[in-house]
Amino acid sequence: MSEKFDVIVIGAGPAGYVAAIRAAQLGLKTACVDAFVGKDGKQALGGTCLNVGCIPSKALLDSSKQFHNLAHNLPAHGISVENAKVDLGTFIGRKDKIVKQFTGGIGQLFKANKVTAFFGKGKLLKGNNVEITGNDGSKQTISATNVILASGSVPIELPFAKFDNKYILDNAGALDINEVPKRLGVIGAGVIGLELGSVWRRLGSEVTVLEALPDFLGVADPDIAKIAFKEFTKLGLDIKLGAKLSKAEIKNNAVALTYEDKDGKHEITVDKLLVAVGRRAYTDGLLADDTGVKLDERGRIVVDEHNHTGVDGVWAIGDAVRGPMLAHKGSEEGVAVAEWIAGKAGHVNLDTVPWVIYTEPEIAWAGKTEKQLKEEGVPYKVGTFPFAAIGRAVAMNEAIGQVKVIAHADTDRLLGVHMVGPGVSELIAEAVVAMEFKGSAEDLARIVHAHPTLSEAVHEAALSVDKRAIHKGN
Ligand code: FAD
Ligand code: AMP
Repeated sequence: MSEKFDVIVIGAGPAGYVAAIRAAQLGLKTACVDAFVGKDGKQALGGTCLNVGCIPSKALLDSSKQFHNLAHNLPAHGISVENAKVDLGTFIGRKDKIVKQFTGGIGQLFKANKVTAFFGKGKLLKGNNVEITGNDGSKQTISATNVILASGSVPIELPFAKFDNKYILDNAGALDINEVPKRLGVIGAGVIGLELGSVWRRLGSEVTVLEALPDFLGVADPDIAKIAFKEFTKLGLDIKLGAKLSKAEIKNNAVALTYEDKDGKHEITVDKLLVAVGRRAYTDGLLADDTGVKLDERGRIVVDEHNHTGVDGVWAIGDAVRGPMLAHKGSEEGVAVAEWIAGKAGHVNLDTVPWVIYTEPEIAWAGKTEKQLKEEGVPYKVGTFPFAAIGRAVAMNEAIGQVKVIAHADTDRLLGVHMVGPGVSELIAEAVVAMEFKGSAEDLARIVHAHPTLSEAVHEAALSVDKRAIHKGN
């Protein structure tokens, strides 16, 4: 007889491990199956996010920002440091240590919450049985009343630029380069391309970013994207828009690239190439043929608004299903599904999931862009406020960017808040709270914000919606 659980979660990324912990908290006998192998060859819980995504990228972004500031920010404060050097071993080693601390932490949380962790590849069989294949090929089957599929995503590979993680890198490869490349090519000016491109640019690489689309950061608000583009160009990222990579050949210890734009074909050579053209839901080997779980045209597991697959007791969450591919979105789905299984009221509002890009300056937004509202025919009004007029930002020598608040023209309800500038990854939380409470621009405008703080930009932008910002002309 196979061991029986109330809940089996397949995948221990931020969607799966959170679902498992919440299910266990609710008194459900829970197992979590994950196949991720860490750098030390052992099981590493935490999925893409903790191992090769959110956490390591932020560690390298922070380290490289410190280095970059030495030459580009500190002199303005009257501080100079001669001959600053980066020890890449320590730089990467610090990141690895942080990853280990956090992936190990998930193991401890599993123990504390009595979640049983299985190491291996899980496959859903008919009847909510899960077959686990260990690395040594051994097989065992466990079963449960409910199975939560949280298998995440993997990088999309271009057929003519296959990953070898020596010359042609995916996200994992770009987080583990052992020598600063003189020339780094980045394909795709999305979140991952911009963040990892920034890391290596700050350490001195000449970075060329090729983006097939004519618009920069089309998912963000165009005003915000415009400011960001200018700043990234100042940093030295050479971003070529409307430039589609069509060939990548490894030659003479380098990668020869061919790309096409409106002027025709061009060739450039780089020492390493990061391909960051998006991620796809990962369901390889996850489902037996007769489970009844469906995939959509993009390979994502089909779910309803309660993350249910339509097959009795089978749910799916995180990057493997529709919605933004963001860690916190998956985690909240994990909590909600565990609560639905336990007969409680789960809740995820995909309309207020915050987006953050941890570049310099940071970019963050929640809700709708002006473009979306125009398309939907929703009447709106806009207030903006520049960080250049925020005392704290000027004191930090980081007075770049702005906050933009969009509210309904008639009801004043907040529809979208968009930011580019210092610390906006944290500032966006206030906007999310306000939007989740169905707040108005007036609400944000009436809240007392501490002085001098960066949050005053949110306050003033909200005031500016009705042309009553204090520290700028309206
Ligand atoms: P994953 O994290 O992909 O986890 C899925 C897990 O399931 C993996 O461990 C996988 O090995 C395992 N698995 C898959 N199939 C099976 C199977 N059949 N059996 C057993 N195990 C299986 N998001 C943010 O919100 N903020 C960020 O700052 C951010 N930065 C990022 C930076 C980079 C470089 C990358 C690549 C991504 C970043 N993301 C960020 C996105 C974020 O990592 C994902 O949205 C998140 O990891 C998705 O969580 P998940 O649990 O759905 O899947
Ligand atoms: P994201 O999905 O946010 O990670 O962004 C990936 C980006 O890669 C998108 O903006 C795509 O337009 C871009 N992209 C996809 N294929 C190519 C290609 N062959 N050359 C250049 N850019 C590409």
